Amino acid sequence: MTTAQQWIERGDRCIATTYGRYPLVAARGEGCYLWDVDGRRYLDFLAGVAVNNLGHCHPKVVAALQRQAQTLLHCSNYYHIPSQIELAELLCANSFGERVFFCNSGAEANEAAMKLVRRHSLEHHGENRFEVITALASFHGRTIGTISATGQDAVRKGYNPVVPGFRYVPFGDIDAMRAAVSDKTCAVLLEPIQGEGGVNVAPPGYLRAVREFCDEHQLLLVFDEVQVGCGRTGKLFAYQHDDVAPDIMTLAKGLAGGPPIGAMVATDAVAATFVPGTHGSTFGGNPLVTAAAVAALRVLLEDGVLENCLTMGDYLRQRLEDFCRRYPFAVEVRGRGLILALQLNIPGGEIVKQALEQGLLINCTADTVLRFVPPLIVSRGEIDDAMTILDDVFGEV
Ligand SMILES: *Cc1c(COP(=O)(O)O)cnc(C)c1O
Repeated sequence: MTTAQQWIERGDRCIATTYGRYPLVAARGEGCYLWDVDGRRYLDFLAGVAVNNLGHCHPKVVAALQRQAQTLLHCSNYYHIPSQIELAELLCANSFGERVFFCNSGAEANEAAMKLVRRHSLEHHGENRFEVITALASFHGRTIGTISATGQDAVRKGYNPVVPGFRYVPFGDIDAMRAAVSDKTCAVLLEPIQGEGGVNVAPPGYLRAVREFCDEHQLLLVFDEVQVGCGRTGKLFAYQHDDVAPDIMTLAKGLAGGPPIGAMVATDAVAATFVPGTHGSTFGGNPLVTAAAVAALRVLLEDGVLENCLTMGDYLRQRLEDFCRRYPFAVEVRGRGLILALQLNIPGGEIVKQALEQGLLINCTADTVLRFVPPLIVSRGEIDDAMTILDDVFGEV
């Protein structure tokens, strides 16, 4: 049998070095648990970075994949694909959306959105109106286009020239947005809650103010719900908490409960700009992943997952707030539903390593923010176990 150390050495010789990886070699997963090749079990409160929303290997998702794998793995978008149609119907029936473009990742969904807003603006407002306002500390992906949209210098470093046409404003500051608009602006792109940027929740009234601002200036509003959509906040989509509908929404991470998928959801009027030949994707909306996503979305909507997310989110928040009272380096809890952050006043990297050694997977974003995005099916007992481990780790700091 190949040992963990042997896998790590083999990987070190042939895998691109884009990630700093922890010394965990993944073998299998079930529910909220991940096992390594040595048979060690970890409580997974990272969940593939908010991908495994239904836990690892949810039986209904696995069954849908198995059924579809035996029937039709792939088929070109030159033809009609039933599971793709079913998924689009489900997304539209449960959101503001009326049409869906499918792709394979969050970055691609945002690329589709950026292409759509440019083309829509050209059609409706003429030349030279192409700028998009995005937020500082945002994250929209790793392609050339999406690093250009992302309001963090670090992700653009070394890749100049980036795509022109983006202006960054502080998240939550409507006056800064007013100051950034010009006759070149065509859209605003925002995460309702910034995930990678440190779990920053839009202040009350901000999304509504942005919607009104967009209407006033005839700008399209795009919500990047790649991380916070698909039930993560306790509603199917994060924008539904504020009752503020965008013109376009992008989805990916949790949409299929594990398999790679991306989607751009738009109103009919806006989506109409994408006539045949203007955009496309070979794998986008492929039978296999859309069959999985239909099953995953039905579980989210029908099996009490959103309710569990809200009650367990409240419970995890209380437990994290308790740490703020007991440890001087834990200063604030942020988030909504089951995307929660514990803001530290010290770097969190070492805590993440120690937690992993004790069997708990979490991560640290923006240097000092511990992020908790467990599966939405997490139980009280699993939260208790995770908090016991964290308490031990904090005790050693
Ligand atoms: C993860 C993420 C992306 C990028 O998704 P990929 O699938 O990695 O391309 C985009 N936007 C947000 C908000 C994300 O969290």
